[in-house]
Amino acid sequence: MENEITVNGLTFVPYITNEEIKTQVERVASEIRNDLRGCEPVFLCVLNGAFIFAADLIRAVDISDCKVCFVRYSSYEGTNSSGKVKTLMGLTEDLEGRDVVIVEDIVDTGLTASHMVDDIRKRNPRSIRFATLLHKPESSKTGFKPDYVAFSISPSFIIGYGLDLDGKARNLPDIYVIKDQAKC
Ligand code: 5GP
Repeated sequence: MENEITVNGLTFVPYITNEEIKTQVERVASEIRNDLRGCEPVFLCVLNGAFIFAADLIRAVDISDCKVCFVRYSSYEGTNSSGKVKTLMGLTEDLEGRDVVIVEDIVDTGLTASHMVDDIRKRNPRSIRFATLLHKPESSKTGFKPDYVAFSISPSFIIGYGLDLDGKARNLPDIYVIKDQAKC
């Protein structure tokens, strides 16, 4: 089929165009701008997946007195029954009393997002907001609700616009969904 792509032997079909992404990024940016008017927010871009979304979003928010920091979470198997433990890496900025906006690529089960918010809360910011490009509400295991969502999608595996498959496909301007899981 036309426009199908293959990454690591898996076939993907077009799902969300760059034009649609631009429109929703503008909408989310204007919501954030309205909510944080007069503030000096700190945007925390969660690497790797959010780098393209964050670059477009933060420029569109257009608040001059803001800071942009980059954080990363390492995952490893813990000894407790919950399995994964995630550790914040790379955050040197003092968040005490600051208005923080976490910028993430996708919220799936919500486990990463919940952990992140708990982690950031320990640094005593004045407020924490969570912006995500994509949200899969049907996959939620935590009830975590992002404050800003560009797209709510069904629980299918997607790539592009920062999201990867084994490190590949982050550079695609559009978002693709794995074949046979596309919305009808
Ligand atoms: P959660 O903790 O919400 O289950 O998962 C969040 C992480 O899972 C994301 O940051 C992302 O790395 C990965 N993830 C979840 N769904 C997808 C998807 O559809 N495509 C890609 N490329 N990664 C995903």
